[in-house]
Amino acid sequence: MITTHLQLELQEQNKWQFKPQFKNWKVFDQLVYNEFLTTEQHYLQQCQNLENIVKFAVNHVPYYRNLFQELGLSYHDIKNIHDLTKIPILSQTNLIEKFNELTAEILPKGEKMYGYTASSGTTGRPKKVLTIVKNNLMFSILCQRNYRFARFNPFGKMAVIRWSHSIPRLKDGSSNPDGETFRLNNWQYPGQFFYTGIEVFFNDTNPIEKQLEWLYKQQPHYLITYAGTLEHLAFANHQKNAIESLRSALTISEMLTDSMEQKINSNFNIPVTQNYGLNEIGIVAMQCSEKRYHIYTEHCLVEIINEEGKPCQHGEQGRIIITGLNNFAMPLIRYDTDDLAIALTDSCPCGRTLPSFGKIIGRYRRYANLPENTLLYYEKVCDLIAQMPNHLISNLRQYQLHQYANNTFELRLLTVDDLPTQFYQIINQIWQETVKDSSVTLEIITVDKIPKAKSGKTDYFTSDFF
Ligand SMILES: [Zn+2]
Repeated sequence: MITTHLQLELQEQNKWQFKPQFKNWKVFDQLVYNEFLTTEQHYLQQCQNLENIVKFAVNHVPYYRNLFQELGLSYHDIKNIHDLTKIPILSQTNLIEKFNELTAEILPKGEKMYGYTASSGTTGRPKKVLTIVKNNLMFSILCQRNYRFARFNPFGKMAVIRWSHSIPRLKDGSSNPDGETFRLNNWQYPGQFFYTGIEVFFNDTNPIEKQLEWLYKQQPHYLITYAGTLEHLAFANHQKNAIESLRSALTISEMLTDSMEQKINSNFNIPVTQNYGLNEIGIVAMQCSEKRYHIYTEHCLVEIINEEGKPCQHGEQGRIIITGLNNFAMPLIRYDTDDLAIALTDSCPCGRTLPSFGKIIGRYRRYANLPENTLLYYEKVCDLIAQMPNHLISNLRQYQLHQYANNTFELRLLTVDDLPTQFYQIINQIWQETVKDSSVTLEIITVDKIPKAKSGKTDYFTSDFF
């Protein structure tokens, strides 16, 4: 079923009113047109963009100059996305260790340095990437596209619940304290270009009941937060009425699993969409109504490759490899995101022709070494809890499944009061039916706190095998 087309998206875009200084900007309409190009037009555009960054990298970035020399390649050998397999993958460790060699010696004419972004790496060492102004601007531009995809009305009120370090700083440079609301008169990123409603921010470190209270008080139309936080809110919310004003939510940073989405849909009665991005590149893709991630090919190219390093077939699961197209300060060609997703090669039923991929599975390195069936068990437990009737989980606030090195499991529950015996009975019964190996046991315990991972995310599943 086609859910959108060029005219409809242009109409959606026209709901956004430019501030006077941007009224001649064509980039936003251009993005709309790009969503409906023919396959041939997409191909040509990708080849052109790829050639630009590869030629620049080989000429002005020591890492690529040396690499191409070693491989006996010239930039002419990389004409399209299929040629990229001639170049080895750039690992996150490479990025950390080869920072200097990856830095461009000069910038293209007219480009200006912006600064650098840093994020925590899987090894705990920060991943730093130098960026140019244009690359940074793309973040704000593509953010608006995300909101159009999600059908946010720009005059609505936006609420954001995130870690304080991701919330704008106060005037004195300090972070927004817990318990306080930070307020902007415009939406943070698209508000540079367009007239919008207000945006309010609250720390994710506030107790969940306080977050819920805050949402009731603020009555926002849209909510942006981590998938885990939204699920947590859904657990805490279930005996009250829905937040009446809320029309939809956009989840960021963490994986939104089917069971989380189900819980959120049934509790808040709103649609949830998810985007995909990473600090090193920016916004990569956004989910459409068909739950596919459409790749923002103006900004990056995405390959999904199998264990042998070959492009995945339709429906096959593989690693997400990204080539950034706009960051001339530090070009990242074939950067290993360490994430897994399902490759899709057919056209999306929504009507957009931007290439797309399916469900994001999670971290490659973490999941590669797990004992057989681990993810099946994990998904079973999540599904089960998501589908439980409210009277069984009214005291549940959060949970985490942990796998020990001897392949036994522990389900940790954070509760506000005792859970009914039936809750335990159901979990134990389904566990026994699902897990055929009797040595793979499950113990259910209650805990006072489920600590967040170093990255700031809540891990729903932890394992000694990670
Ligand atoms: Zn689609």
